[in-house]
Amino acid sequence: MCRSTIYQNLLLVVRPTCEFQRVAQSDHFQKFIVIQAQDGHDLSKLSPFVIDKFLKANIGTLDDLKRLRGGQLLIKTSSHSYSSKLLGLTDLAGVPVKATPHRTLNSSKGVIRCSELKHASEDEIASELAHQGVVDCFNIKVKGQDGVRRNTNTYILTFNTAALPKHIKIGYIHTKVEMYIPNPLRCFQCQKYGHSKNVCRNTAVCARCGEQHPTEGCTNREKCANCSGAHPAYHKDCPKWILEKEVQQVKAKNGVSFVEARRKEITVWYSSSLC
Ligand SMILES: [Zn+2]
Ligand SMILES: [Zn+2]
Ligand SMILES: [Zn+2]
Repeated sequence: MCRSTIYQNLLLVVRPTCEFQRVAQSDHFQKFIVIQAQDGHDLSKLSPFVIDKFLKANIGTLDDLKRLRGGQLLIKTSSHSYSSKLLGLTDLAGVPVKATPHRTLNSSKGVIRCSELKHASEDEIASELAHQGVVDCFNIKVKGQDGVRRNTNTYILTFNTAALPKHIKIGYIHTKVEMYIPNPLRCFQCQKYGHSKNVCRNTAVCARCGEQHPTEGCTNREKCANCSGAHPAYHKDCPKWILEKEVQQVKAKNGVSFVEARRKEITVWYSSSLC
């Protein structure tokens, strides 16, 4: 298998969207903030009118606001000062609250390709690029036919901004940053997507035949646990795998949560299958 094919299997990389191209490096603040009620109080008891009026009067007009499943409010702001004010919020219309940056939406991952970094360690790269918002660097490795894992010229960079920069400077080199789209996460225990074996509470399902037994040693006829097709659950032609890969694309491109991305993608999938 040629190296470029290996990369394609490892990563699905797309060009940054217009939203990402507008990013400036001065954009280092928390855009997505979660407001949670404290001391047994419940934000869902406040009407949308009360919340809207309170935030407009005390913070300003916000870009977006929605309620999360647990009753918390997820707020998006593109204003540095609104972000600071929101993070200092301890009371929302009489309800004691705590405001925290969203756990994942305030960072982004990008891919760069640069052969001149082969003698630099991941730590060195992350540290040298820190002033451009880089907080982590990971080199993609591929296993050769001899079984030895080798470094490649492809790096995944984590940025401390919600949106991805279009380019970065690696010393004197001007390098394009592309969006990183991870492969879908499939549970090795139950074969379903969206969680790992470590947190799985489902019964073991065989990746080969879809029956309820561990995969090891199974010689049954192949039947996918997710789509009932004549292939194992890990097959890359599985329609479920293809759908989940598109879910990852929606998530990466729009910066939405996994649950939202899946809902959007499934809607698209169902509507296109009806045509
Ligand atoms: Zn599972
Ligand atoms: Zn089996
Ligand atoms: Zn399948």
